[in-house]
Amino acid sequence: MPLNDRYSRQILFPGIGAEGQARLSHSRVAIVGCGATGACVSSLLARAGVGRLRIIDRDYVEFSNLQRQVLFDEADAAESLPKAVAAAQKIAAFNSEIQVEPQVTDLTPENAVALLDGSDLILDATDNFETRYLINDFAVMHRRAWIYAAAVGSYAVTMNVLPGDTACLACVFPEPPQGVVETCDTAGILNAAVNLIGSIQAAEALKFLAGATEKLRRSLLSFDVWTNNHAEIAAEHPRADCRACGKREFPHLEGKSRVNVTLCGRNAVQIHQRHSPVDFGELASRLQPHGMVKHNDFVLKFWHDPYELTLFPDGRAIIKGTSDIAAARSLYARFVGS
Ligand SMILES: [Zn+2]
Repeated sequence: MPLNDRYSRQILFPGIGAEGQARLSHSRVAIVGCGATGACVSSLLARAGVGRLRIIDRDYVEFSNLQRQVLFDEADAAESLPKAVAAAQKIAAFNSEIQVEPQVTDLTPENAVALLDGSDLILDATDNFETRYLINDFAVMHRRAWIYAAAVGSYAVTMNVLPGDTACLACVFPEPPQGVVETCDTAGILNAAVNLIGSIQAAEALKFLAGATEKLRRSLLSFDVWTNNHAEIAAEHPRADCRACGKREFPHLEGKSRVNVTLCGRNAVQIHQRHSPVDFGELASRLQPHGMVKHNDFVLKFWHDPYELTLFPDGRAIIKGTSDIAAARSLYARFVGS
């Protein structure tokens, strides 16, 4: 299949052209999170011919995702495929000429440098401010560009961060903003809102990677697709008193705010405290007498009423059916061990 044919309509666009297309093909992008925003932006960048995508996501596909996460289908949910793996499989089916590297893991202070280094651009498609501050710390410390994007309900917001040039996330939000603390689990979400912000993020990414940096937006942009309210707040320059840009303090990258057991949605707890890999076959036979269990290469699921435990090969688990951290911990200790 001729390359020129695949990208012909994009090369015709004067802002990209043949030179911009060549730049895209040599670009590396890290996408942190592969929910709705990540599915949208990784699909668009893969179709546009960005040469290498590293997709980092800790979660697996569920039926409640299909309303907005446009890369996934019912078979992925039935199999509980990790989102990063499902995304790589879908992308391979429509663009086999680029490289996609799925990473089924949480972005943490311990692995952030290994996972984000070597990328020309980092895209935020996460659902929490702790991870965004971690990305921001890494990006400001290493002068790497990244794009913030978030959506909840009908509201979505995005900002380009060019360290040393524009404001960073900590310049604009020294603390996590109130009002964005609602999550998709509590406030619901419209697929149009999150795919809008993913599309704007993808457009800014294409400008950056194709070398059209003078076209990049230098503001915090928000849009409510239900009320049509929209706003732009100037974010032209770093603030001298910013902890990251000004004081060069990076507490999130140093892991000072890190906990290994976290609430994860309305009725789920994530546990990540084991340091040795799990043998799914052996564990499945051990769990069989205690409830329904099934596994593939990527996840093991165990149902022990009223709990549903999803375990990843590195020992990380998501326990649904409780928001009680102590109960989740004891379930994990009892059935998985340390
Ligand atoms: Zn800053």
